[in-house]
Amino acid sequence: MRWIVCTQNLAKSFGALKVLKEVNLEVYPGETVVILGGSGSGKSVLLQILVGLVPADSGRIWLHGYEVTQFRKEKDWYPVRLKTGFLFQIGGLYDSMTVFENIAFAMRYHLRLPEKEIKKRVQKILDSVQLKGVEEKYPAELSGGMQKRVGLARAIALNPPLILYDEPTTGLDPIMGDSISRLIRHLQRTYNISAIVVTHDLSCAFKVADRIMLLYDGKIMISGPVEEVKKSDNPYFKQFLKAIKE
Ligand code: ADP
Ligand code: MG
Repeated sequence: MRWIVCTQNLAKSFGALKVLKEVNLEVYPGETVVILGGSGSGKSVLLQILVGLVPADSGRIWLHGYEVTQFRKEKDWYPVRLKTGFLFQIGGLYDSMTVFENIAFAMRYHLRLPEKEIKKRVQKILDSVQLKGVEEKYPAELSGGMQKRVGLARAIALNPPLILYDEPTTGLDPIMGDSISRLIRHLQRTYNISAIVVTHDLSCAFKVADRIMLLYDGKIMISGPVEEVKKSDNPYFKQFLKAIKE
């Protein structure tokens, strides 16, 4: 299997609103693809469709070698979800669990490891996202940037070969956003993870991407290496740049 994610003619409407019209994309192993798009362009819907949280109307999706659009039972998704980390745009953490529990939860559930081993792994993961000494705190007691780090820690907890990031830097101040972008880049490189990052934050996109796409009018309008897209005079890209500056 050459790609880790592939979609063909993906479409999704909510009533009369055609959010995705024809999304065709491929992500290759080890590659970080950033999908840029304005607010409401369907970025979150796309990620949710990929992992089966929202059904597509039509089109086909392959993930990790499975055609997930052929899945009929919830159980079919288990091996795919185990291999796919997800960083949610907002929330995504269990408010009533400590930071430690938020990360340990998936390990206990999926890997059934002894408690000592879980403790060791959680420590190691918290180290790798530069979070220490907050194990016993609850998400509400942490800053936005720290919550994102816990989300990241949770996304990588099971060593997934693919991570989907929904607006990882949105809502953070520029310095915190920059540090999250660097951290994502570092994790991607260190563990050779494949990723889709959806965002409207150009600075994050340029920092983490191997390839950049633009989602516009329900379709992927541009796809190319960072340096190429930076110089692009594609009218949709220019329009997007103009829109985010306003
Ligand atoms: P973004 O690119 O900002 O992440 P979204 O993917 O969240 O955009 O949403 C794209 C469009 O689809 C928006 O107009 C949003 O209001 C609409 N939408 C998303 N989810 C639903 C839903 N469950 N029901 C109805 N409309 C929705
Ligand atoms: Mg969104």
